[in-house]
Amino acid sequence: MAYQNEKIILELLKIEGNSECADCGRKDVEYASYNLGVFVCATCSQIHRSLGTHISKIKHINLDYFEDSQIKNLMDIGNKKSKLIYEKRIPACYRIPKINDPQILLEQFIRAKYERREFSGNQMPSYTSGKMEGFLMKKGKDDNKYFPRKFTLNEADDTLRYFVREDRNPKAVLRISELNVTFATQFKKDLVHKNTLQISYLSPSNSTRHLFVYHDDPEVIVNWYNSIRCSKLHYLQIAYPHANESDLIGLLTHDFAKEGYLMKTGPRPSDAYRRRWLTLDDRKLSYFIDPLDSFPKGEIFIGSSNEHYSVRPGVAEDFRDEGFTFSVFTPERIYNFSASSAELRNEWMNEIQKVINRPLSTSDIALCARLIRKRYATMNFLPGR
Ligand SMILES: [Zn+2]
Repeated sequence: MAYQNEKIILELLKIEGNSECADCGRKDVEYASYNLGVFVCATCSQIHRSLGTHISKIKHINLDYFEDSQIKNLMDIGNKKSKLIYEKRIPACYRIPKINDPQILLEQFIRAKYERREFSGNQMPSYTSGKMEGFLMKKGKDDNKYFPRKFTLNEADDTLRYFVREDRNPKAVLRISELNVTFATQFKKDLVHKNTLQISYLSPSNSTRHLFVYHDDPEVIVNWYNSIRCSKLHYLQIAYPHANESDLIGLLTHDFAKEGYLMKTGPRPSDAYRRRWLTLDDRKLSYFIDPLDSFPKGEIFIGSSNEHYSVRPGVAEDFRDEGFTFSVFTPERIYNFSASSAELRNEWMNEIQKVINRPLSTSDIALCARLIRKRYATMNFLPGR
């Protein structure tokens, strides 16, 4: 009997869609949810199990025996049809998780699909409405203490505000269209609460400000994340009415390409190497004393090879080589870094090289100008004034 089932399962896996995980797309399905009628990978099967058997009943496709009725369900539904049911109305701005995306996104996607039926009902989820408010735990600017702060999002005036006291003016008003939001757990896993968002924006002084916020409920934090994405999408759709929606979706939010500790020298060969937290955020290579600092100690704009930016192994002439070193050449200065292993150095060099290979866009040029203006301002030497 078991053999008979195994043969049918193998046949079912040949049907288009069934060999890719119904939730994350991984081409390595090992399990089936026989009540939902879908095939999933090992990672997603764990999440299905955590939902409880009243939502999803999981079996291993080779090691478990399937009843005829369970096989029939898998035959009748399958991955392709299930998407038409459970992903019928996914909002365009919703970030559908891919392999290696933050775990919280995958968990909440699976819960939204099968537990909350967020995409198969007739109501659009609340985070698409352009308005959101609630309390989030926010890290203090100068310390590691978190306090509840009221946040309000209002797409109509493109603002995200937070209040220290509800009856007072907001402590800060951020323009949604100009900020980025990412899950801080990607690289700072052991340093932050598991549901932490990192919100980054350019402060009036042209320095990037980082806010860290979390909520104990992962659903709430993912809803905030998607509400920011939705507001950004609507803003872009008005600004670029003829653009393809799929092109605009690529512009909503971005994750950091790489983060971690490196040793960095100052501008003079006699300067010591100091441990810094580095973040490669699109075209900004920022360095911090502490990973959770609100402001970077410095920000290096990474242009393209056309503007003579490059990354090379080793250090600039006269500088001490601390081992596993590499340098970033910009038209203004050479920055020397030392990693703790050859592997880590190669990872950093690869990611920086990818940025250098990419030609500059108009918004990249604007960012470069702002960072340079900031440098002049801090040198007390504003050109033209
Ligand atoms: Zn999966």
